Amino acid sequence: MKAPAGRFTARTVRAKAPGKVNVSLDVGPLRPDGYHSVASVYLAVSLYEEVTATSTEAPGITVALSPDSTLDLDDVDIPLDQNNLAYKAAAIMADVSEHATGVHLEITKRVPVAGGMGGGSADAAATLLACDALWNSGLSREELAHLAAELGADVPFSLLGGTAVGLGLGDELSPALAKAQTDWVLVTADYGLPTPEVYRTLDRLRAAEGIDVAEPTGVDPQILTALRSGDAEALSRVLVNDLQRASIELAPSLRDTLGIGEAHGAIAGIVSGSGPTVALLADDPVAAEGLAENLRRYGLTALAVHGPVPGARIMSDILL
Ligand code: ATP
Repeated sequence: MKAPAGRFTARTVRAKAPGKVNVSLDVGPLRPDGYHSVASVYLAVSLYEEVTATSTEAPGITVALSPDSTLDLDDVDIPLDQNNLAYKAAAIMADVSEHATGVHLEITKRVPVAGGMGGGSADAAATLLACDALWNSGLSREELAHLAAELGADVPFSLLGGTAVGLGLGDELSPALAKAQTDWVLVTADYGLPTPEVYRTLDRLRAAEGIDVAEPTGVDPQILTALRSGDAEALSRVLVNDLQRASIELAPSLRDTLGIGEAHGAIAGIVSGSGPTVALLADDPVAAEGLAENLRRYGLTALAVHGPVPGARIMSDILL
């Protein structure tokens, strides 16, 4: 439908993008540029962020959090200005879009903030896709992935979804053909762990112990084999996260969470990325639901999810 010439017609596009779990995360030494190279297997899981992008007659970008968010919005510290990752994604899309207008972004938060699951990155990925549609920018997935990498190391994966190996800063992605479902329980915390602080703590622990690590060059092929067959038992033996000890150093209760999970039927547990979210591996969906239920009795916030799931997608596109 075409709007009469000269009259502004608002359009609203809704997109969603998944959070992730790092099934493996090898971290190299501190590089002279201050970053760390990683080798990681990413798994997109069924916990989604949603972004609704609505064009506005007034220029500029505004950001709000939706009351439909499942996170307690009073508890979270999310900037709503140009520091918000969704804002940055809209700004970068506006730069490359001939027909950019003003835009209002409403974010439905479900992925824990600063939880090591790439929630802000998912907001950025969903915003890229939503603004691409809103402004008919017509960028290819490859062009979008390029913009995503400028926004942050985890943004390209949220766009891609599925299962992927990430090298470099985590943004050099190769999709892995591992489509079998694995089931997880996410135990979220009511605090965040700033990713840079977790990396600094790992460097400090390694230095104190005189541990020299090599640059990671790839991931253990057994992880991909287990993910391809959906063999949770085999996967449980190869889960690894180099950051876990640093996260536990900063938040010792994570050790208890892992212990409680394993005592109640998880096959294995791992801190997700920089934490503090813990990902517990379960045998199947029923076991995952049962485990989550049990953990909630301990007062923990536990959610059964599965992966892999597809990356960022448009959910609706409406002329108002
Ligand atoms: P990463 O491992 O990539 O740091 P994370 O999942 O641990 O990701 P995020 O929830 O993405 O952490 O957010 C980390 C910080 O980024 C937050 O503390 C917040 O201040 C800031 N931030 C910026 N934009 C957003 C956003 N849209 N949602 C959540 N946090 C955001």
